[in-house]
Amino acid sequence: MKSQNRILVTGAGGFIGHNLVKRLKLEGFWVRGVDIKEPEFEPTVADDFELLDLRQWANCLQATRGIDQVYSLAADMGGIGYITASLADIARNNVLINTHMIEAARINNVRRYLFSSSACVYAGYKQHEADVTPLREEDAYPADPEAGYGWEKLFTEQLCRYYFHDFRMETRIVRFHNVYGPLGTFEGGKEKAPAAISRKVALTPHGADIEVWGDGRQTRSFMYIDDCIDGLLRLMASTYREPLNLGTDERISVAGLVDLLCEIAGKRLVKYHDLTKPQGVRGRNSDNSRLREVLGWEPQIRLRDGLTVTYKWIECELRKAGRIAPALAYAAD
Ligand code: NAD
Repeated sequence: MKSQNRILVTGAGGFIGHNLVKRLKLEGFWVRGVDIKEPEFEPTVADDFELLDLRQWANCLQATRGIDQVYSLAADMGGIGYITASLADIARNNVLINTHMIEAARINNVRRYLFSSSACVYAGYKQHEADVTPLREEDAYPADPEAGYGWEKLFTEQLCRYYFHDFRMETRIVRFHNVYGPLGTFEGGKEKAPAAISRKVALTPHGADIEVWGDGRQTRSFMYIDDCIDGLLRLMASTYREPLNLGTDERISVAGLVDLLCEIAGKRLVKYHDLTKPQGVRGRNSDNSRLREVLGWEPQIRLRDGLTVTYKWIECELRKAGRIAPALAYAAD
């Protein structure tokens, strides 16, 4: 039966999309991947991979032809530096992608449509403390999301609800909290904190200084990619149409993340804080009560375990590229 389910993953050249395509293929589905770029680190295993700019209406119609389920992951996005630098471009690009994609899916009779939202929809005024109360789904309102990127996510969440209201289209809405793992970009400006810090730790010689954005006391939770993919498949299979957190509730400060990665790498480094760099909200964590209630499940992989795999993968990539001299390698393996 699974091979008769035709699945589209948009953003299939990106981190989560590429990992999702691999998992869907292992599960026996027929998969089409669409992106404006190929996956960065290894070839796709999708049955069909099309390079299409999904800001264009005609391309969204082409992408959704003959498809039963859509995982809508394509987005102009990156780490905190990237999403705070170009508000208009990000908001416009993502509005175009998501408004065209959901309408094209409707016209092509897609049965289920999953939209990837973000913890960036949560109200800023609820995230002023590092010791933050974990965020429940209702904490997105009254609205005060992240400028640009977060406003678009919040609007598209509403759009999904309107498509159910007006057309009875089955939509699913996932709010990711910081996903990390192998095969994610780790430099160039679009990388997130775990990848950026892993790269810096790997490239910094034992005993030298390592740059940390902000004072390091800002807190977050981080979810390993395998948990993220498990959660996505479970949510798609569920009957739940309201926004749902998908993250861990294992909170850590950014300085703590640096210390943990140093420990994994077997290095002692000296942190210096660049207070001119953006650091986002002061504290953010996921309340997983509804996730447990709806899916009977929550992410399982401890941060230390996921980071160990991720660090080793990034270090290995840097070594292959000749960027780590053997004398500077302090890997704990
Ligand atoms: P990513 O940047 O690796 O993947 C997004 C992909 O979308 C990229 O490959 C990009 O080329 C593609 N894309 C951008 N513009 C496009 C266009 N016009 N047409 C077609 N493709 C286009 O990011 P990711 O981490 O894999 O994130 C996937 C989704 O999850 C995104 O919607 C993102 O907003 C959301 N999300 C991710 C995180 C996280 O921690 N990774 C957190 C919250 C939300």
